[in-house]
Amino acid sequence: MADVAVVGGGISGIACARVLAGAGLTVDVLDRGQRLGGRLAVQTLRDTGTAYDGRVVDVGASYITVSDPEFAAVVTDWVDRGKARPWTDTFHVADGTGLLGTKLGPMRYAAPRGLRSLVEDLAVGLPSDLVSIAHPVDVESVDVTDGGASIAGSTYRAVALCGPDPQMRALLSGATTARDALAAAPTWEPVLALTAVYDERTWPDLDGVFVNDDPVLSFVADDGRRRGDDAPVLVAHSTPVLAAGHLTEPITAAPIMLGALERIVAKSEPAWFTVKRWTYARPAQAREETCYFDGVVGLAGDAWDGKPRTEAAWLSGTALGRRIADELRG
Ligand SMILES: Cc1cc2nc3c(=O)[nH]c(=O)nc-3n(C[C@H](O)[C@H](O)[C@H](O)COP(=O)(O)OP(=O)(O)OC[C@H]3O[C@@H](n4cnc5c(N)ncnc54)[C@H](O)[C@@H]3O)c2cc1C
Repeated sequence: MADVAVVGGGISGIACARVLAGAGLTVDVLDRGQRLGGRLAVQTLRDTGTAYDGRVVDVGASYITVSDPEFAAVVTDWVDRGKARPWTDTFHVADGTGLLGTKLGPMRYAAPRGLRSLVEDLAVGLPSDLVSIAHPVDVESVDVTDGGASIAGSTYRAVALCGPDPQMRALLSGATTARDALAAAPTWEPVLALTAVYDERTWPDLDGVFVNDDPVLSFVADDGRRRGDDAPVLVAHSTPVLAAGHLTEPITAAPIMLGALERIVAKSEPAWFTVKRWTYARPAQAREETCYFDGVVGLAGDAWDGKPRTEAAWLSGTALGRRIADELRG
């Protein structure tokens, strides 16, 4: 039996597993997805009737930003090995009527094979004698026992729950201190991600667009420029309010989102489109603590470590791995 179970194979869970394995502990990573990556997600285009079938599109997080030196070293290593690329520090801004201008910001990093490939890269380096990664495995509950916790009959010395609070809270039945720690969870916002594939580019040169004061769209990415192959593919993110009204049948939001996209960025109809639902896309804010650990159950993800974004998820998972390793190695 492994020492620790990590539930969640997104960037926080894999970061946590890396630290635990580095400390010589054995780890089972369990994720319900077909692939690792969580919200660093890609979709492979199929049956689009365009020349872009087989191409992957980033349909979750749009990009990665970096401020922490330790995470910066990870991103620099990805860039040096061609896994990630500096994408842009300049996005357009728009309102509901169209583009208004550009805005300088931090460098945004993307990945030529999609952001998910970065999580897979972190997992490739894990020693197979210490870490087992199983997916798709849908964990139904985590039962805290005397001096440990069990998942589907397997008992672990500690369990790290690495992902959105509502999904992780649902696994903890009964009264546990970890469940209490999640009681005051921040609000999680939904997002719909519309992928639109065009026959050719019909919009001005741009990388991404922050859309302000629009009831439908919040952000648009040029996925071709993001990934570096210049494919005419846009990914538009809805506002949380629009998403909340279409979570049961996300595709019903497509005409509204396409209308807004045509109004703001692309002056033509796409050859193909689809809509992906993120019920828990992002916490509205994150707690200041880096992670939580009560001696048996740990919590990490982008609702920890101050800023609700990918960097915080990596930092939080790394911090939790260190806390569990310190505790278990005494
Ligand atoms: C639309 C969208 C846009 C975003 N844009 C940005 C951006 O531009 N920049 C940025 O930095 N961040 C962005 N983010 C946020 C970023 O994606 C997250 O901060 C980061 O991916 C969180 O990683 P995580 O490991 O904490 O959680 P996740 O990636 O959600 O990983 C959790 C994992 O747990 C698994 N899981 C859940 N329940 C179970 C269960 N019961 N059993 C087994 N496995 C389970 C899931 O399958 C998932 O793989 C965006 C997110 C979305 C959705």
